[in-house]
Amino acid sequence: MKELNFEKYDAVVIGAGFAGSVVARQLANRGKNVVIIDKRSHIGGNMYEMYKKNGIRVHLYGPHIFHTNNQQVFDYLKEFSEFYKYEHKVLGKIDEKLVPIPFNFTSLEMLFSENDAVEIKNALLENFPKKKKVSILDLKNHQSLIIKKFGEYVFEKVFVHYTAKQWGVPVECVDTSVINRVPVVLGYDDRYFDDSIQFMPLNGFTDLFERMLDHSNIKIVLNKNALDIVKLDIVNNNILINDKVYSGTCVFTGAVDELLNFKYGALPYRSLNLVFEDYDTDFYQTNSVVNYPNEEEFTRITEFKYLTKQNLQNKTTILKEYPLKFDERMAQKRDPYYPITNQENNEKYNLYKDHIDKISNLYLVGRLAEYKYYNMDSVIDQALMLCDQIENNKK
Ligand SMILES: Cc1cc2nc3c(=O)[nH]c(=O)nc-3n(C[C@H](O)[C@H](O)[C@H](O)COP(=O)(O)OP(=O)(O)OC[C@H]3O[C@@H](n4cnc5c(N)ncnc54)[C@H](O)[C@@H]3O)c2cc1C
Repeated sequence: MKELNFEKYDAVVIGAGFAGSVVARQLANRGKNVVIIDKRSHIGGNMYEMYKKNGIRVHLYGPHIFHTNNQQVFDYLKEFSEFYKYEHKVLGKIDEKLVPIPFNFTSLEMLFSENDAVEIKNALLENFPKKKKVSILDLKNHQSLIIKKFGEYVFEKVFVHYTAKQWGVPVECVDTSVINRVPVVLGYDDRYFDDSIQFMPLNGFTDLFERMLDHSNIKIVLNKNALDIVKLDIVNNNILINDKVYSGTCVFTGAVDELLNFKYGALPYRSLNLVFEDYDTDFYQTNSVVNYPNEEEFTRITEFKYLTKQNLQNKTTILKEYPLKFDERMAQKRDPYYPITNQENNEKYNLYKDHIDKISNLYLVGRLAEYKYYNMDSVIDQALMLCDQIENNKK
């Protein structure tokens, strides 16, 4: 890496997930010479997909479904791949039954007596006219006793234990924005997302990233922790690469606390232990994802054939996700997955951000760098906007 002459690059991008790859491609399109560095052995960040020996294509860092209402983001991605329609559906194991998640009228009818289901449905429709979905917190705190009791039931069965498993803290300690990501649906729509655009790349995300980064102005460096060579001089507000001041653009998409050597303490994340299992059978379960909100230690099982639509007989691969504590992540050198956003952690993040903001040629973008629970469409959108900002030299 010492031999790479950074002075000849207009931009150094750290991290080859969506945040870094979109920035690298956009800057390259605008005639800049870009080097993109990732510490992993592959591009794609958490979106990376690979083929297992049995031929099944799996998402190595957990299942990733593209869904958005942002047409501009989708149009941008279509430059690098064809897409097929895929509407994600999830079942959850509740009281030994597999019911649609988000909880909808079908789930209600499967778990309640016919009379109770009718009474609850009517109360919901009367109290939330014209609404397609409501927050569980609005149901649980509702003045109508029927709705409140129903809300408390769903909260207990779908949210309380799942949240404790996923986040490692009681549900009360989790930011309400996280709880509100999964609504209750007032109808029979059993899709997990209701966005207008729901597609998957025809040959998978890795293929899409390969095309995105295939540009004569982009140099890719893998298996390299950029922080071995990139340092911040926080006295003079400079970026140093191999001990020399770097005056080009630097875009960082990794964990911001690492960038400043944990100066204000580690930012907490949740991590995952991802356990893949192969089976010599056509299918393991009846749909792509089954959530286990209650007794089991894992939170969900994904069966990839449903996502990739591969037609392989007598072979399938599943993934069980076991949430892990941040300390375990540190000890076992696991990846940070989910930022734990709450007031205390956001304030800590802002201390890091204030420091970075003083360095005029250093930019942060992405799920780790911005410490936000972003979906991929938001990350792509942010990355596209950042490129305009860089071009206009507005920080
Ligand atoms: C389990 C899980 C499931 C998800 N499912 C969905 C979904 O279904 N739909 C959806 O829209 N979104 C989903 N997301 C969110 C999605 O993964 C992110 O929004 C997106 O991948 C973020 O891209 P990124 O580039 O910011 O981060 P990443 O993809 O994490 O990329 C960051 C890259 O930076 C590299 N890096 C970090 N530090 C350094 C360093 N010092 N030197 C070199 N390289 C470094 C890392 O190795 C990594 O490759 C999910 C997230 C998780 C955790």
